[in-house]
Amino acid sequence: MNTLIGMKIPVAKPYLGKEEAQLAYDTILTNWVTQGPRVQEFEEKFAEYVGSKYAVAVSNCTTGLHLAMIVAGIQEGDEVICPSMSYIATANCIMYVGATPVFAEVNPKTYNLDVEDAAKKITARTKAILIVHQIGMPADIDAFRKLCDEHNLILIEDAACAAGSAYIGKKIGSHSDLVCFSFHPRKVITTGDGGMVTTSREDYYQRIKLLRQHGMSINDRVRHLSDKVMIEDHLEVGFNYRMTDIQAAVGIKQLERLDDIIAERRKIAFRYLNELKDISGIRLPHEPEGFFTNFQSFSIYLLPENKLDRNEVMQQLLDRGISTRRGVMTSHRETAYKDACKDLSLPVSEDASDRSIVIPLYVPMSDQEVEYVIHHLKEVLKG
Ligand SMILES: *Cc1c(COP(=O)(O)O)cnc(C)c1O
Repeated sequence: MNTLIGMKIPVAKPYLGKEEAQLAYDTILTNWVTQGPRVQEFEEKFAEYVGSKYAVAVSNCTTGLHLAMIVAGIQEGDEVICPSMSYIATANCIMYVGATPVFAEVNPKTYNLDVEDAAKKITARTKAILIVHQIGMPADIDAFRKLCDEHNLILIEDAACAAGSAYIGKKIGSHSDLVCFSFHPRKVITTGDGGMVTTSREDYYQRIKLLRQHGMSINDRVRHLSDKVMIEDHLEVGFNYRMTDIQAAVGIKQLERLDDIIAERRKIAFRYLNELKDISGIRLPHEPEGFFTNFQSFSIYLLPENKLDRNEVMQQLLDRGISTRRGVMTSHRETAYKDACKDLSLPVSEDASDRSIVIPLYVPMSDQEVEYVIHHLKEVLKG
């Protein structure tokens, strides 16, 4: 049988096993299914894994980012600089607190916020810079830290895709005071939906915990373990941004697997890098010295010299059974932002977004499947 015909290859899939199902099952039978011991255990293990002092589990990365904006004191009238080329939640969380996202360009090689363009966008109203570790590739945290210090700005990290990625020898989650992760199935580890905020600041930690649970002064675990009647107060207007213990149980197992998942993803990514490097007409991902990506996605950029345009390449790959996705979107061209951004031009972001595609990368992905993708990608790009 010719292994190069007739396969069906998804662009991504989560890596979940019987162990995750068993842990969820066991948690359900304890009858303690939210804000209980599994959530606490997941938080402690996640904080230890990334090397941060504290971690707070939340319902997803977007709600984590919303809480990060609040504790950072971002409010109406403030500006927050961020990339437009990101998932739209990056910009939305700034809108939630009545502030304005100010979109800056990305670096065309890493798709991460361009520090020089970000610097140009600083005004008297700028309060923070929200960097994104796009598709797992760390942004240049030290450069942004320096810029923020010079202008007295707060640095916030959208690390939705970056669990297990590292920057200059330290894991993402350990560098700054507000780092938000996602456990959506499209990320490297998943809890169905879910998120985590890491911080080294005790005051941020306490306030995020308060806000995620309706602003309630006493948490369920403390009350449950107390032999004294405890009456709670609601200290400020909070939210229900909780993660359940069923999700956290799954997350604990996923976290145990994370290093193996990343090792496997990198093995596949480096095979792509190696075997696709001689194809003309494409640009491959670039991992700068000192940066360590988890390859949450593998994105390739189609140079203008290609005979086929991006959608044609995607369609021809799909005809051969290979699913792909468009590259990272830009927010300023979406309907929700179009009017507010009608005078904004971000040629680098627009070009990178329009000409890139995400190709299949998941665990486990067989050698045959990888070979199939490489073979057909080469065929299609021949035109
Ligand atoms: C996935 C993603 C989010 C949103 O994460 P959720 O957990 O789905 O809320 C935010 N920012 C970026 C960059 C993402 O890729």
